[in-house]
Amino acid sequence: TIGLLALDAHGNLAGACTTSGASYKMHGRVGDSPIIGAGLFVDNEVGAATATGLGEAVMRMVGSHLVVELMRQGNSPEKACRLAVERIIAKHKDVSDLQVGFIALNKQGEYGGYCIHKGFNYAVLDKSTNKLIDAKYKL
Ligand code: ASP
Repeated sequence: TIGLLALDAHGNLAGACTTSGASYKMHGRVGDSPIIGAGLFVDNEVGAATATGLGEAVMRMVGSHLVVELMRQGNSPEKACRLAVERIIAKHKDVSDLQVGFIALNKQGEYGGYCIHKGFNYAVLDKSTNKLIDAKYKL
């Protein structure tokens, strides 16, 4: 997935995502990316989040919506992503082959990302920053 979150000069949030789907997927499979709340969620009062990784695991948790709701409760974007990742890990017996990652951006322009396994990064562009960040990871 390529997920994009934006905060404009008027303080409005937006988001978009694309997906590569899954290897050897069943005909007709719909992943998380086209499902609002799963692969992408934007609430202009709070923040925005998008997901990458195994769509079934993200959909089961309505992952991007979960991240936004965790930000609504006062968590930073990175912590909200981490808590959602931990919730997904807790639902799986074996996560050795499972990768899920989230990025999030809040209404104040704070951002963060978190994933299960190392190897996920995201780019940040604003007035003073143009950089690639290695997302923190759990395992
Ligand atoms: N989340 C996508 C899916 O499962 C895969 C990806 O592009 O990360 O459909």
